[in-house]
Amino acid sequence: MSEAKVRIQDDLYEAVNGEWLKTAVIPEDRPTTGGFSVLDQEVEKIMMADFRAFAAGEKSSDIPEMKYAVALYKKVLDTERRNREGIDPVLPLLRKLRAIRSVEELNALACELLLQGVDLPIQMDVTPDMADATKHAFIVLGPDIILPDTSYYDEDNPAGKQLLGVYGDMAAKVLAFTPLTEEEQKQYLEDTLAYDALIAKKVKSQLEWSEYYKCHNPVAVDEVAAQVAPFDIRKLLVDLYGENAPKTLIVYDPKAIREMNAYFSAENLGLYLHWAYVKTLLKATAFLSEDLAALGKTYSRALRGVDEDPSLEKQAYRTASDMYEEPVGVYYGRSYFGEEAKKDVVDLVKKIIETYKLRMRKNTFLAEDTKEKAIRKLSTIEIKMGYPDEIKEIWSKLVFDENASYFETMQTLCAIRIQDTLKKALKPVDRTEWLMPGHMVNACYNPSANDITFPAAILQKPFYALSQSVSENLGGIGAVIGHEISHAFDNNGANFDEQGNLKNWWKEEDFAAFQELTKGMIEQFDGIEFHGGKVNGELTVSENIADNGGMGVTLEIMHTLPDADFRAYFMNWARVWCQKAREEYIQLLLSNDVHSPTALRANMMPRNFPEWYEAFGVTEKDKMYIPPEKRISIW
Ligand SMILES: [Zn+2]
Repeated sequence: MSEAKVRIQDDLYEAVNGEWLKTAVIPEDRPTTGGFSVLDQEVEKIMMADFRAFAAGEKSSDIPEMKYAVALYKKVLDTERRNREGIDPVLPLLRKLRAIRSVEELNALACELLLQGVDLPIQMDVTPDMADATKHAFIVLGPDIILPDTSYYDEDNPAGKQLLGVYGDMAAKVLAFTPLTEEEQKQYLEDTLAYDALIAKKVKSQLEWSEYYKCHNPVAVDEVAAQVAPFDIRKLLVDLYGENAPKTLIVYDPKAIREMNAYFSAENLGLYLHWAYVKTLLKATAFLSEDLAALGKTYSRALRGVDEDPSLEKQAYRTASDMYEEPVGVYYGRSYFGEEAKKDVVDLVKKIIETYKLRMRKNTFLAEDTKEKAIRKLSTIEIKMGYPDEIKEIWSKLVFDENASYFETMQTLCAIRIQDTLKKALKPVDRTEWLMPGHMVNACYNPSANDITFPAAILQKPFYALSQSVSENLGGIGAVIGHEISHAFDNNGANFDEQGNLKNWWKEEDFAAFQELTKGMIEQFDGIEFHGGKVNGELTVSENIADNGGMGVTLEIMHTLPDADFRAYFMNWARVWCQKAREEYIQLLLSNDVHSPTALRANMMPRNFPEWYEAFGVTEKDKMYIPPEKRISIW
């Protein structure tokens, strides 16, 4: 008996990808396969073969930093030494934490602990200042929680309880390797979970984080210092910057800082220290013996529904390519990305920006001078294509002692990177820095720089190929490019001007009209059932607006092609979103990813455009039909 074939008019995603979905197997060590992950697997395969050859001395690179990356790769593979040393390499750091008896002693050590990657009572970082993108800002926020989102801590969330159980079992097993007595081990674990529960009541939810422009809350150091006391942020800043210490901090999570005494005070210092001990220990496991490394990944495997860890060789490659991401990305780009493709895609980006401007001029809800400002923002978008021409200085500073243990090596390298980031607070922003390395299968828009980055690794089939038709490329990489550009005008990006400064450049009534359309987009996605869960329309709105803009602008270009094939366009659009994922991972993404599930990205957006109805003769009898009054096209 043959199954009835799914009609494209009813389910574009299934009609295009159904055959593949039936037989595709998710690799044991990954949560997904298809689209982005297939490309990622392929990039990884090529690069792992190169690393193997580098390590064996059969191949060499003229990028000097690559030899450090290969040395680190070898360190991960040295399991004889890792297994012999067991938990020992982390013990000195754990002893240091255990010796702390008072908040004063913690404050005295805070700077040192920060560089050693220990979680302090608050987190801090240095990023471009949202209000002035030429400068850096010192930011503060609350600590990380164990579960993926604050909503997991609700009484009626069974997944939260189950996951905390997995975390607790894992931590108990790892703690058994330490010199702590059994009694102490129990106490440390209990305190860790108790402290985590206190933090979870104060920090932002993923939904709150998704409106990132609301992170800009400048507060005088003295005021922050009063809020976070007895933790001494002033001393820490002086330890880091001396007399140049910043006078104003940007508070990314105001409630977590303002109400910090609910989780950190002199009275519950013990709770904090036990929590910090357990977190430090668990983070370290990845760089210790093989059995500790496997044990320490139990929770992350459960979160993603994955049963197996990546092979040792993969772990070695991933560790090295993450730590030295820019040189490795440049190596990948120079080796596997052609100049012809680079020029072709840059031309496509320029064409999409020009078409965007045309659409902006035709826009019906903006006043003329708001349109002009939007067009100015489009004109100044910087394009970062493939991989950077030069490797920044920091990467050549990531050197380590060849005789050090794997754990010590990672401590050294992380400290150099943390220091480099913190030092930026005193320097202007370098707008030529790249946010993504060349070997990453992804793309991004940076609102603070008003630039877009397309790493070499995404510029492949099905997204893009010189051998694919222009229509197919427009439905693939074209729509992705349009998506990234649209982030300049999504509900977050719209708050930044063409310099990347948080500034209101809108007329009040224009912004109100935009918000009305945004509301429509929230409603279009909110509550859609997916694998037993529900899509959160608010959480995903900025990404859905970006998909909507990306499709609108590329369809506009389609109309100018002499040989436009709208069917090929929509089918390739559905192809790039093809994905098979583990159930646990689907639930995790539904709760904390700002992107809608890929099957919905494929199927929801086309319904908003007349071209979809014309290309496949879709009518009200078909499932992928929505009446014209419900269709939304924002940009
Ligand atoms: Zn996006």
